[in-house]
Parts: sequence; structure tokens; C-alpha cells
Amino acid sequence: MVRLVLFDIDGTLITTGGAGIKAFAHVFRTQFAIENATAGLSFAGRTDTGLVRQLFELHGIPPEPENFDLFFSTYVHWLDEMLRTCKGEVCPGVIETIEGIRKLPGRPILGLLTGNIRLGAELKLRHYKLWHYFKMGAFADDHEERNCISAIAHERGRVQEKGPLLGDQIIVIGDTPLDIECGEAIEARVVAVATGNFTVSELNKHRPWLTIPDLTHLDLKTL
Ligand SMILES: [Mg+2]
Repeated sequence: MVRLVLFDIDGTLITTGGAGIKAFAHVFRTQFAIENATAGLSFAGRTDTGLVRQLFELHGIPPEPENFDLFFSTYVHWLDEMLRTCKGEVCPGVIETIEGIRKLPGRPILGLLTGNIRLGAELKLRHYKLWHYFKMGAFADDHEERNCISAIAHERGRVQEKGPLLGDQIIVIGDTPLDIECGEAIEARVVAVATGNFTVSELNKHRPWLTIPDLTHLDLKTL
């Protein structure tokens, strides 16, 4: 029986019209005087903290705690602004899937497993009126490595469950090969959705438990 369902955010629950990437670029421009800092960098499935570290290295900025603090304190301000101006949407079938999971026998815990920092995740999901659904989560400020974030989400699920939580009692839903990998790292069943930057056939190459075009294709009876 499913006990915990962990959702990725970008490309899985919502698309933001590039709000996060634009906020990143804006912070580098205004706080570090670097134009086009994010050009050519792939954000899909990565962690915010890992991305910032890579950009600091790329642009010769010391990866000191005060620079991370400066980055993220400015980032959340601009993310909030960009969410208002960029056109995004809730991905197809998300609300129906969440409502359906809430009605499953034993009421599985709904959680987040994301490379966003916690406040970034909250800003994005509050903007699209989804934040209130999630009872727990693991974020980029918990760890820089995606596979460690999934281990933390698993542990927090165990605490909420007040007992053992086996991998096959956990569903991870995400839109990138890195989501598939981090779900498999905790032996969860991974549902890959092609609502982000990867097609069904690209995702299939990474052998998730299930690949679907979008969440309208998820039959909750099969979980
Ligand atoms: Mg994603």
C-alpha cells in the first residue's frame, strides 16, 4: 500500500514560465555584476544550492556562506516578483491527482522532493495555490545533492508515519532523469511525467517504474 507520495515541483506540479531561471540571472546581474550568468546551464532536476555553487565557480565568486546568503536573500525577492510577471500554469491532472491520493485507503502522506530551496518552493506553490496540500518535504537547503534530499524525505516520511516505510510504499513523481535517479536511490517507485523538458521516450531510457505524458494519465488504482 502507498504510504508516501513525493512530488517534484518544476515541470511536474507547475511550470513557471522560467521565473526561477530569470530570478537567478537577475541576482547575478544586480548583486555580482555578471551578465547572462546562467547562459547555457541546464536547471532541470538540479538543486538551487548546487547550481549557485557551480555558477560561483564558473564566475570566480568565492563559495563562502556570506555569498550564498546574499544570493538567496535576493533570489527569493526576485522569484516572488518574477512569479507575478512570468506566465506559468499548474500542469495537467495535478489537482485531480492530489485530490485522488487524499482519498486513497490509509490516506498516504503528500510531500515534496525538490531541488528548490524551501522558501523558493513555498513561493512557487503558494503562487499556484498548491502549497497547502503538502504536509512535509525535503529541499535544497537540506542538502546540495539530490539523492541525499530523497534520503532526507524518506526519513521525514518515516517520522510522520511513526514506523517503517519501505521503498515500495513510496511513490516519487518527477519530470527529469535526476528525479528518477533520486527516487531509485531510496528504492521508491518512480512515476516520470513528460510535462517538463523531457519526452516520454527520453524518460523511458532511464527505466522509471512508469512513464506517462502527464498526470491525467495516472490511474491511481494501479499504485
Ligand atoms: Mg522538475
